Amino acid sequence: MVAESKARIFGEKKDALAERVERVIAEIEVIRGTVYTEYQTLAEAQCALLSTLKLDTAGIINGFDPRVTKRTTRFVLHNSGIGLAVYDRVNQKILWTDEVDLVPQLLEAFKHAQQSPSDEFPVWAVGNLADNNLIAIFAIEDALDHIAKKRSIAIVRSLHFPLNQYVWINGIRNYSGGPGYAVRVVHPSMEGDEEVLLSTETADPAGNLSYKDELEGVLKHGSIYLSYVFKKLNSDELSEKLAYAQLYKPFDWVVCTGIHTDDMLSIVAKRESDFNRAFRNQISSYAKIISIISLLYIGMILFFERRLTGMINVFIDKLKEDETALREEKNKLDYAYQELQRVAYSDFLTGLLNRRAMYERLQQEVSRAQREGLKFCLILADIDHFKSINDTFGHDTGDRVLKAIAGIFRQHIRPEDSASRWGGEEFLILTPSRSLEEGLVLAEDLRKAVESTTIYDGATTVTTTITLGVVEYSQGKTFDSLIKEADFYLYAGKKLKRNCVMSSVSTV
Ligand code: GH3
Ligand code: MG
Ligand code: MG
Repeated sequence: MVAESKARIFGEKKDALAERVERVIAEIEVIRGTVYTEYQTLAEAQCALLSTLKLDTAGIINGFDPRVTKRTTRFVLHNSGIGLAVYDRVNQKILWTDEVDLVPQLLEAFKHAQQSPSDEFPVWAVGNLADNNLIAIFAIEDALDHIAKKRSIAIVRSLHFPLNQYVWINGIRNYSGGPGYAVRVVHPSMEGDEEVLLSTETADPAGNLSYKDELEGVLKHGSIYLSYVFKKLNSDELSEKLAYAQLYKPFDWVVCTGIHTDDMLSIVAKRESDFNRAFRNQISSYAKIISIISLLYIGMILFFERRLTGMINVFIDKLKEDETALREEKNKLDYAYQELQRVAYSDFLTGLLNRRAMYERLQQEVSRAQREGLKFCLILADIDHFKSINDTFGHDTGDRVLKAIAGIFRQHIRPEDSASRWGGEEFLILTPSRSLEEGLVLAEDLRKAVESTTIYDGATTVTTTITLGVVEYSQGKTFDSLIKEADFYLYAGKKLKRNCVMSSVSTV
């Protein structure tokens, strides 16, 4: 990361150095063009003015020849290489000029009737004198460049850049190199040493022949990057420097700029600290976002958990309600079932077991007795002359008698005994675990109880009797045989006298 950013910054910096030099050269080019245009305009204006004044050759000499005017500076165009010339058209002679070195060139120009600037005279303007001679105002390239250079130097010297950077110019005098090959034209870091001659043999403290490298580089490629050791601006501190140099051929100038490596490292450090700060800010932003998302997430979980818990509780309550309802429903069903059982297995008039219930219970008792070797008694009872009760008192009273006798039976039997209405006015009693003797005792008790009971039905009182047949179960007997046997003894009792108990041990 650091190496990458360092390499990138060094790369950017190299490009910036080249760009700076190119901009300075472009500026110099503009200045140069401006000087040429400016002086051409001035020359043309002056020629026009002199023509208007109708001066003759003598007038010009008297006005402009320093030997005549005794002026130390020229009137307007005072540089060497810039001047006036008077030409005799008839005799094709230069009559006067303040630039005597240029007479041959001037003569050629006049002979060819030059009217505008040429390579020889980039500034050239011609006017007519009163004595029919011609006057030319002119400037040669060196003179114009001299002016452009002075202006450029002033501008370049005023350029300042951050991190001890500046632009300096070496003016080449000899492209072959050697001592005095160039002169220091501008150097903001060494203003006292400007105009000093430079040598390609000069080495920096690290042994780099930077002037030689620079000259060879610009000659070969037009420009070059150099690395050498040089003192810093406004200081005697020596430090490694990266420089860029480019040749501006019209002036024979090498325009240069550079930056000290440690200053570049300070940029790297600053970029890094900027990056680190931005990175930290970014991280803290991410951390904030993640925290907010986490809180939202937790909030959502809590919200849904609460809702879910609520839903589960509602569901559980609903289940409980359903369970209660189901239990109630089951109780109702149980009750209904018991009622059904009761109705199915009890006689509606007397409330005793009906024939079906007694039949099932008797079958169970027979199997149990067979299995376990137990005994039991059956007592078959029939109301005596019941028909006459109906006939005498009415059927309802008959029913009342049936109920009363059932009540008597209920009172006298044990909880484990079962009493049933076996037929119209016939009752069958099952007494488990009783012997015949015990069965006979019970039968006799029943007989007596009925006999001694007065049954009331409104104003009607009825008394009646019952005849009973008693049988004991013994191994091998079936249900049907037992019933038949009991019926037999009952019938025997009826035949005998009624209101009696008959069994296998009774004396008939
Ligand atoms: P026995 O002494 O020989 O038994 O004579 P009995 O009249 O009792 O016998 P019988 O078989 O001749 O008559 C039985 C009568 O019982 C006939 C019938 O009308 C009557 N009976 C049967 N079931 C009922 C009932 O539920 N209610 C009333 N009131 N009478 C009934
Ligand atoms: Mg009967
Ligand atoms: Mg009867």
